[in-house]
Amino acid sequence: LQGQAQSLSDASTRHFSSVPSPQSNSTDENGFKGHGMLAPFTAGWQSTDVHPLVIERSEGSYVYDIDGKKYLDSLAGLWCTALGGNEPRLVKAATDQLNKLPFYHSFWNRTTKPSLDLAKEMLSMFTAREMGKVFFTNSGSEANDSQVKLVWYYNNALGRPEKKKFIARSKSYHGSTLISASLSGLPALHQKFDLPAPLFCTQTALTTGASIFLTGETEEEFATRLANNLENLILKEGPETIAAFIAEPVMGAGGVIPPPKTYFEKIQAIVKKYDILFIADEVITAFGRLGTMFGCDMYNIKPDLVSVAKALSSAYVPIGATLVSPEISDVIHSQSNKLGSFSHGFTYSGHPVACAVAIESLKIYREKNIPDHVKRISPRFQEGIRAFAGSPIVGEIRGLGFILGTEFSDNKSPNDPFPAEWGVGAIFGAECQKRGMLVRVAGDNIMMSPPLIMTSDEADELVSIYGEALRATEERTA
Ligand code: PLP
Repeated sequence: LQGQAQSLSDASTRHFSSVPSPQSNSTDENGFKGHGMLAPFTAGWQSTDVHPLVIERSEGSYVYDIDGKKYLDSLAGLWCTALGGNEPRLVKAATDQLNKLPFYHSFWNRTTKPSLDLAKEMLSMFTAREMGKVFFTNSGSEANDSQVKLVWYYNNALGRPEKKKFIARSKSYHGSTLISASLSGLPALHQKFDLPAPLFCTQTALTTGASIFLTGETEEEFATRLANNLENLILKEGPETIAAFIAEPVMGAGGVIPPPKTYFEKIQAIVKKYDILFIADEVITAFGRLGTMFGCDMYNIKPDLVSVAKALSSAYVPIGATLVSPEISDVIHSQSNKLGSFSHGFTYSGHPVACAVAIESLKIYREKNIPDHVKRISPRFQEGIRAFAGSPIVGEIRGLGFILGTEFSDNKSPNDPFPAEWGVGAIFGAECQKRGMLVRVAGDNIMMSPPLIMTSDEADELVSIYGEALRATEERTA
């Protein structure tokens, strides 16, 4: 197999790997080989032989490459094109706003109507608990960076400058700026970047997921163990030094890891006990992906702060935001009044075009009842894929709503991971791509989070391509 995989590495997608990986069979008429872009999260960009997969247009749940080949976009771009590839209402919202007011900022008590309207709409939409204010950013990373600054500012205002550390979970992904990458629990984000940044981030092994099957615990017992781990960590670090805990309701990029039953109930009780703020990173889960409008609704989370991005504008234009509890925003307001201003913000915070597109996106989520649609179609997607759980190369299938992860492992010697150099995940990804479907590959984890408008026929197509690609991968690893 190893030799086989070696030859396959030329034809497959590999993440976090230094193996150059041509993505399409295109000739290089356009001169895309050795292109000028330092591409994000890309292996092999440095090779002049690599032809990237160049996507040219999109339509509903599909994208088309430069050669006209059609792909079912099972990851919705990067977990984000919730309304698919060509929603005319979003294009119109952007065009109308561009014609009227392409830009004005929100500094110094000046602002625009779309940003005010969007903030109001978001506060009314988030009902897991009452939130007070919205701060606009351009991305999920900036939203999480801003969370850290807001929390530090808040604790400084309260006269407790030592309460500054953050607890995040291993395998989490919170972004790739200095601070949001420091919050993230994926080693590849830290290696060679001198991260995590010192003094503010405490990583903990609060990994949920597969380890339960190794210990034989019930989900509830597993959740109790994780909550105990958290409490021990807080006590070891000193509760007076811990400012906040951050978690994705369902971990996304770490491999799609939903929490075990009772996890968030137990975790929330611990953080509350030690006066630690809870930040819900809803960058992937907000606006219907789990079958509820927010992940906080699904797990009865009552956060102090929430990060959103991606589906906020269905990714048509960049925008992110943090929702801030009334308690925190009150403290921030009174402190900034003392100082003269709240000196944090971006030129494009509340960009009117982004806000106009986001307002229209939220309108569509409500009108079409997107969470309900997800609830209705998801059994077809989830159960369809789970039918393959008996495959000799499938270790675990996880997910709910429109998010799903598959972890490959060698079931011939129970739950052993395949040697990384075999590239089993990459083989599966390449087999999907060959058959017209794009999936996210990270090592031997495969992730899917289709557009929230995915129809039942498209779910069937997704399941069918998955099955064919799986069979082909089984043959190649036999
Ligand atoms: N938080 C989560 C949970 C994410 O999945 C991501 C991106 O995938 C981010 C934050 C970072 O968002 P962005 O890429 O918009 O900076």
